[in-house]
Amino acid sequence: MHRDFYTRLISREHPLPEAFVPEHLIDIGLPFEAAPGDPKRLLEYQAAKAASQLFHACHKSGLNLWAVSGYRSFQRQKELFTGSRFVAAPGASEHQSGLALDVSCPSLHMELCEKFASTGEGRWLKRNASLYGFILRYPENKEEITGMPYEPWHIRYVTKPLASWLTITNLTLEEYHNFPQRCTPPP
Ligand SMILES: [Zn+2]
Repeated sequence: MHRDFYTRLISREHPLPEAFVPEHLIDIGLPFEAAPGDPKRLLEYQAAKAASQLFHACHKSGLNLWAVSGYRSFQRQKELFTGSRFVAAPGASEHQSGLALDVSCPSLHMELCEKFASTGEGRWLKRNASLYGFILRYPENKEEITGMPYEPWHIRYVTKPLASWLTITNLTLEEYHNFPQRCTPPP
């Protein structure tokens, strides 16, 4: 995929086209709360490789991170969409890009909830995700900027340079795209 694809802003205002399907989706074998063959186990190739490294490092620290939901087609998002602000409209979900992954842990019975932030896995993820090219895409206290509630379980692959930059500066992908003059990453 073109490099710009990985740093792309995907939101209600910047949806993906209905027909968009990432070129190279793979199941890289993450510990997944979904049966083999389920499309939600898929991720875009670069994102999948990065996620695999992240999971190895997390498990080496003695933690028990699990993947819950990766790729989601436009059609599947349409089925899930309830009109609520907690569920992205079809096209507005980063999961359609294959670059986003929801994660949890057995101590929460694989639930996606705010409590994840205070688990060992959630704390490790916040500290280390950027080392593997991921950001916590919907942080606390940025709800008005992202238009999404706080989701400590949703990570998004944006490449290592951009993930480090956004993490150091505490900026969201929206701020990066809307005010590039104020937050140009280092070369
Ligand atoms: Zn998600």
